[in-house]
Amino acid sequence: MKFNLLRRNKLRAGRLLREARMFARAMKSPAHPILAQIVPTRRCNLSCSYCNEYDDSSAPVETSEMLQRIDTLAALGTTIITASGGEPLLHPDLEKIIHRIRSHGIIATVITNGYPLTLKRIRSLNRAGLDYLQISIDNLNPDGSSKKSLNVLDPKLRLLAENADFQVTINAVMGNGIGNPGDALSVARRAHELGFTATVGILHDHDGQLQPLDEERKGIYEEILRMGSPIFSFAQYGRFQKNLVQGLPNRWHCRAGCRYLYICEDGLVHRCSQQRGIPGVALGSYSREDLDRESHAVKPCSEFCTVSCVHQTAMLDSFRENPGAVLAQIMDSRKELDPDFEPSRLVKLLARLFLTGRNRKLFSRIALRILKIS
Ligand code: SF4
Ligand code: SF4
Repeated sequence: MKFNLLRRNKLRAGRLLREARMFARAMKSPAHPILAQIVPTRRCNLSCSYCNEYDDSSAPVETSEMLQRIDTLAALGTTIITASGGEPLLHPDLEKIIHRIRSHGIIATVITNGYPLTLKRIRSLNRAGLDYLQISIDNLNPDGSSKKSLNVLDPKLRLLAENADFQVTINAVMGNGIGNPGDALSVARRAHELGFTATVGILHDHDGQLQPLDEERKGIYEEILRMGSPIFSFAQYGRFQKNLVQGLPNRWHCRAGCRYLYICEDGLVHRCSQQRGIPGVALGSYSREDLDRESHAVKPCSEFCTVSCVHQTAMLDSFRENPGAVLAQIMDSRKELDPDFEPSRLVKLLARLFLTGRNRKLFSRIALRILKIS
């Protein structure tokens, strides 16, 4: 028991170090992909009515091809790779893909509907070195739109709580068309109970665009955030979601195609899952020029975009450009939802060292050295 705890703490410390490296690299350079999403198979075992990202027949992508794609993403300087789908756990060699991601020092994450998880699979994901696993849960019980249901998946969640070495995030999905409004709250509560991270996402339409939430769902959305969401969820809330849940546009510059890449099963690079076909260039020939062009391109779909992974990379870029203002904005959003909120001593210390202190340039240089970034 004690040995197990020590081992998990050691793994957590390693993850934190890799995250710190990812963050430091994003702060140092505006030109490499922070996050790439890969599709090892388009096939899914479920058929959620709102989803346009799956079929029920595609074969898994050849493992050698997937490994080659990972190597190419590493050469482009990618810092996080997420396997999604379809259902990525239907790929028979997903563990080999994860292992290759980790061999490049890249953070490995998987987004799954949870159904294929067994004790054996969780242990093999542990051995492969998976860092993060995310399960989206839409409702308490299966209905006509989704079978990603808490009451069906709960035994899998318990297995994860007892056996996973990787960090688990449960994403409660909210949308006017799906589930009962209170379901998301029950999902988030159960996630906290099991020691997982809980996030909340807003359902988008087939173009990645917004479906504003009704008043009841808006209240529940804020309650989930108050339950102790990670700082990044608050950052997103302040910068993006606060407007989106009210049906208001966001003014921001989307750098999808540079800071975020979506690689489909055919090995083509797209701006995101909702804008497939643009630019639609083969990953093997994706160049610095492509990254640069996409970084500067104005995306007409940006105002009502709900693609949260791209929002997250944009948050990092905002922080790089204006750290003091972004930190203040995060704290303000958090206080708006919870007036008693006080940032931790660690956050205060880091802000003093790196943002406001007289020797902040020196501290930043030392940190980059320690993290082997400069
Ligand atoms: S489980 Fe995920 S990929 Fe499969 S149909 Fe549902 S939303 Fe789409
Ligand atoms: S704004 Fe960017 S992330 Fe959002 S839908 Fe358009 S291209 Fe995709």
